[in-house]
Amino acid sequence: MRLQVVTAVAAWAVTSVCQSVPMSRNLWSRDADFKELSEKLSSSAKAYYPGTDEFKAANERWSNLDVPTVNIVVVPGTENDVVETVKFANKKQLPFLAYNSAHGAIRTLGKMTSGIEIYLDQLSGVKIAEDGKTATISGGTKSKVVTHTLWDAGKQAVTGACECVSYIGPALGGGHGWLQGRHGLIGDQFESMNIVLANGTLVTLDSSSELWWALNGAGHNFGVVTSITSKIFDVEHKDWAIEILTFSGSKVESLYDSVNKYLLKNGTQPTDVINWSYWVNMPEADPSNPVIQILIIQEGVTAVDSSYTAPFHALKPISTETHTGGYLDLAKWVGVTTTDGPCQKTGAMNPRFPIYLETYDVAAQKEAYELFAENIRGDSIFNGSLYTFDGYSMEGVRSLDDKSSAFAYREQNVLTAPLITYMPDGPELDAKAAALGNKLRQILHKGTGRSYIPAYVNYANGDEGPEEWYGSESWRQSRLQSLKKKYDPSGLFSFYAPIA
Ligand SMILES: Cc1cc2nc3c(=O)[nH]c(=O)nc-3n(C[C@H](O)[C@H](O)[C@H](O)COP(=O)(O)OP(=O)(O)OC[C@H]3O[C@@H](n4cnc5c(N)ncnc54)[C@H](O)[C@@H]3O)c2cc1C
Repeated sequence: MRLQVVTAVAAWAVTSVCQSVPMSRNLWSRDADFKELSEKLSSSAKAYYPGTDEFKAANERWSNLDVPTVNIVVVPGTENDVVETVKFANKKQLPFLAYNSAHGAIRTLGKMTSGIEIYLDQLSGVKIAEDGKTATISGGTKSKVVTHTLWDAGKQAVTGACECVSYIGPALGGGHGWLQGRHGLIGDQFESMNIVLANGTLVTLDSSSELWWALNGAGHNFGVVTSITSKIFDVEHKDWAIEILTFSGSKVESLYDSVNKYLLKNGTQPTDVINWSYWVNMPEADPSNPVIQILIIQEGVTAVDSSYTAPFHALKPISTETHTGGYLDLAKWVGVTTTDGPCQKTGAMNPRFPIYLETYDVAAQKEAYELFAENIRGDSIFNGSLYTFDGYSMEGVRSLDDKSSAFAYREQNVLTAPLITYMPDGPELDAKAAALGNKLRQILHKGTGRSYIPAYVNYANGDEGPEEWYGSESWRQSRLQSLKKKYDPSGLFSFYAPIA
């Protein structure tokens, strides 16, 4: 059987005049190249050309600011299809990029101006080991498939919170999720990994491998991961509860003072408690300004402990919402199921401007809120924006030595990021959004009194650099650079937050 190809008749008629599509280092010939590659791929592999619905669907991204441009989509049906595609791309000197659920929004992706998209959608599945201690998760599996498959077997693993995002995308940058307080980051759970390296070889790596340290935090830089074997756990706490308290922005100072005192507690937030907050327009609650929503989530209970919620009730919320259920309900309660807004690909630009914090500087929170409100309230073009503050518990993350992986920020307690959402309307608007996002980030940065900005690589804007993504210590930078030089000397994996 040959590679299944979807090609638009109209597009084919146009391009067949010249028989080839220009690429940065070489030419993709629809006849010769396609024939050569298709002979190497399995019968389940597919390929999509521009102009088809399938190409469009495989190319849609969550953020449309500085997107990668590709000329062909290859959808591997097997691990070996990834190997053959990488080898073929290398032979023809064509750029290539792994696409998973395409929620990656870093602007460095825009440096890919042509080449092959390796769309991992068909490599999906979760296989639980007989001893019930690990599961092997295929390279293109979405988080929802992982959480639901494991839950059905009475198991769970650390995954990202959002159902539609891939399992592996977040994991390669460390990966934050509900269970990190118990077990550590997503990347901390890796037992082994199948990965196609820059030279086109498929290898199985584990903690004895030289590259292992780098894959947990800077993993995007080293290969296409075809599967990961992760630790999994028996479900111990079936119950979960949440309280969502919505406040007027005028309470910003007292709210973050209370978050510091009663939840964050200088980095000792209890393992069973997660605290997020959102700043968002909600005209039905406050027609004039964005509201502040405080979300307090607790594991192992049917109602959030009042010692955590009472200080917030005392601040007189506009409304309070409570829910009780199980682990699988969390995505619904916080609005990140596959059908919720944050999962949709609407054509919007979605730049984020992340900075990690140890604690909230109350004055900085107030200044940032006021600037945010001034710019997103009412009919502002940015009125769909959202400021997120993710305060996961940290015990499991801190149980590992800070030097144990390329993820550099185990001492940081809160992940904050304004998400400036708007529909595309030219470079001037892009610059305005960037100026706003960076100003907001700078306000929180100033409040920390630190000299550099620790930025989560998976939320990064792209205007940061390797020191912000991977830690400013020189030993981290030189270790990463020397691994990059050895394993990817030509920089084939350098579209997503490149090391150098
Ligand atoms: C709605 C939403 C919710 C989110 N929730 C969380 C969360 O709970 N926790 C968290 O930590 N982060 C979260 N993020 C951030 C997320 O980690 C990044 O957006 C990440 O890049 C998404 O990966 P992806 O596979 O969806 O995107 P893609 O754009 O497909 O992938 C991003 C990059 O990852 C690399 N990549 C992906 N798959 C592979 C692979 N198999 N092998 C090698 N490289 C690969 C490629 O370089 C690719 O360019 C969220 C983002 C969004 C938009």
